[in-house]
Amino acid sequence: MQFKDKVALVTGASRGIGRAVAVELALHGASVVVNYTSNESAAKNVFKEIESSGGKCQLCRFDVSDSLKVQDEISKIGEEYGGLHILVNNAGITKDGLLLRMKDEDWDRVLSVDLKGVFNCTRAAAKIMMKQRYGRIVNITSVVGEMGNAGQANYSAAKAGIIGLTKATAKELASRGVTVNAVSPGFIETDITSGLPQNVKERYLEVIPLGRFGNPQDVAKIVAFLASDDASYITGEVVRVNGGLYT
Ligand code: NAP
Repeated sequence: MQFKDKVALVTGASRGIGRAVAVELALHGASVVVNYTSNESAAKNVFKEIESSGGKCQLCRFDVSDSLKVQDEISKIGEEYGGLHILVNNAGITKDGLLLRMKDEDWDRVLSVDLKGVFNCTRAAAKIMMKQRYGRIVNITSVVGEMGNAGQANYSAAKAGIIGLTKATAKELASRGVTVNAVSPGFIETDITSGLPQNVKERYLEVIPLGRFGNPQDVAKIVAFLASDDASYITGEVVRVNGGLYT
């Protein structure tokens, strides 16, 4: 029970990678706050899964791009639990399109959720973590933030931005016992990737040296490690979980 007495907030935890992270942290003793934005029935399923295996869980609905709401909800979590030890900035969306056809609103929305959302939650959580002189922040970036991807200028820019944000906040918060790291998944089987055309998936498979797509648990295990005390001397790092796709 390495996370006994720890409180964790996982954004976008109703589905996919966030869900697997929430379940993994709860399995090892954390009290987990599961954030989501619209899919209440999926969030309730995560709640049931965690509670039925003896874990502790609470649902918390907010949009990570809404800075006032984020501030309010995270300070409530800190008051209710008497602290916040782990923040996993996982919530993310895509709105793909080629550059010349990309609408302003698709650029703005992806940057607001995927990058500003990480800033909003980090700023609010850091207030609590700095005071308690302990914190673990893990940001989910993406292989496309490192290598780029045609049709994803907005998403690639947001995910590359997360890497800079991770490194800057790691330096700012280190002296207060707060580590900040990023995990960079490759192609992971979730709702976000299920809509990709079969020929695109086949092309990816050909260039992944380990010969398979990842699953959410592949990512969750690394997030849990970075959130643990075993990773106390690691900060400002980007850990790739991509089957060798980009090294
Ligand atoms: P997913 O299955 O589509 O789940 C996305 C989650 O984010 C859902 O829980 C969703 O909540 C939540 N969410 C969306 N917008 C939100 C907002 N504005 N505020 C709060 N929550 C919000 O996605 P995924 O594939 O697990 O991806 C999770 C993260 O990993 C994302 O940051 C993604 O960019 C990154 N990533 C994924 C892959 C991949 O191959 N899957 C690869 C690299 C990186 P609702 O259920 O309420 O909609």
